[in-house]
Amino acid sequence: MPGQESKTHVALLVSPGMGHLIPFLELANRLVLHHNLQATLFVVGTGSSSAESTLLQKPSLVNIVSLPHSLSSLDPNAPICDIIISMMTASFPFLRSSIAAVNPRPAALIVDLFGTPALSIAHELGMLGLVFMTTNAWYLSVSYLYPSFEKSMVDAHVYNHDPLVIPGCTPVRFEDTIEVFELNQEEVYVGFGRYARELGTADGILSNTWQDLEPTTLKALSEAGTLGYGKVNEVPIYPIGPLTRNGEPTLESEVLKWLDRQPDESVIYVSFGSGGTLCEEQITELAWGLELSQQRFVWVIRPPEGTESTGAFFTAGRGSSRDYWASKYLPEGFIKRTKEVGLVIPMWGPQAEILSHRSVRGFVTHCGWNSSLESIVNGVAMVTWPLYAEQKMNAALLTEEMGVAVRLRAEGQGVVERKEIEKKVRMIMEGKEGEGIRERVKELKISGGKAVTKGGSSYNSLARVASECDIFRRRRDGGY
Ligand code: UDP
Repeated sequence: MPGQESKTHVALLVSPGMGHLIPFLELANRLVLHHNLQATLFVVGTGSSSAESTLLQKPSLVNIVSLPHSLSSLDPNAPICDIIISMMTASFPFLRSSIAAVNPRPAALIVDLFGTPALSIAHELGMLGLVFMTTNAWYLSVSYLYPSFEKSMVDAHVYNHDPLVIPGCTPVRFEDTIEVFELNQEEVYVGFGRYARELGTADGILSNTWQDLEPTTLKALSEAGTLGYGKVNEVPIYPIGPLTRNGEPTLESEVLKWLDRQPDESVIYVSFGSGGTLCEEQITELAWGLELSQQRFVWVIRPPEGTESTGAFFTAGRGSSRDYWASKYLPEGFIKRTKEVGLVIPMWGPQAEILSHRSVRGFVTHCGWNSSLESIVNGVAMVTWPLYAEQKMNAALLTEEMGVAVRLRAEGQGVVERKEIEKKVRMIMEGKEGEGIRERVKELKISGGKAVTKGGSSYNSLARVASECDIFRRRRDGGY
């Protein structure tokens, strides 16, 4: 319209997986709704999950573009990170030509941790390159400060299992370390180093945390450039969380109707994120643990994959019937014996709605960072059951630093036994011991709510990101 200035446009690139897609959509929505930007989200989706399709088909204020991917030509047995990186790499030519065709060009490209090679595309095309880490600041500190770590220290962590010492932050015990360091292979963490150096080329890093949640780590990150770590580029860090999806109040579903019939704060929700799977023996132990705990429960259950509890991302949201489950994997008579108190949902549940339901008090979680935040923003205490990626770090943070969870322990490297599950579930749901945890999570709920409300620390931080994009675009396009 004549006389009306066009909005500053930002592009976002998100890698496969609901754990990335959900917070990226949320970020794009907030940039549009609260900060008056225009947003295009480039999605490298898997197309294999109904939950993903449902989310992407919802009416949105954000322009959504699916980039072609090459899932069919990839080795399905390759490590999940390698599959995602290959899919992302294959999408870059399409990303480049799509952005180059947009006039006026977006001011910035915001990528996730698997999209850091695309920062150079942003810079080549005359845009800001930003990273949105959908994780907490502690995990970010491992990646961002990694170029400053002495090789001998990393070797001692990987091979001798010494703690990883991060300047200014809590050290990472080997038992809590990320998958990259557990693999015991130098080429793997050399690859991690490449990603960490790419992170250092960003014009800003957004993290799904907030100032009052991780003050010490955020301070260390903000001082990284000046404390003389030398090898770390100084990149502005923007804590913008907790950025989570709100439950839809009008959503109709069997589980929500079931929850409506339960007393306040009487139900424990059990779910392992978009891709977590348990082995068959572990499913049996969990079923017994829940039954023995005598608590009301909702359990999102998936078929076992192999002999270990792990992740199987690209099938999330595929349906199968409860009877099939009961006959195949659950202890005999489990559904019948627990039918008054429990509900088993195959594959996928409306998690944001479940966690915000008044009847839910506890959450047995794999500690994906989105799930952890969704629990905190709803004041729901957690039982931590980390499976892969950086989830053990998250579990340590939630239990030891934040005090909003208790941790399940497996016997040695094996399964978590039914007695342990019963004990920790009871602790969170009814025990005196859990009282402090339940109070603490309610305090953090308030703190997180304040951070993202207008005038709060995270709201202001995202406003600064929007303003940087605006200023950059005006300078670049000759506005002033
Ligand atoms: N989720 C859901 N229903 C499910 C399982 C997961 O809505 O049955 C959502 C959950 O609310 C969260 C995301 O999927 O937003 C999972 O992200 P998270 O970081 O917790 O774990 P990941 O799946 O990446 O391991």
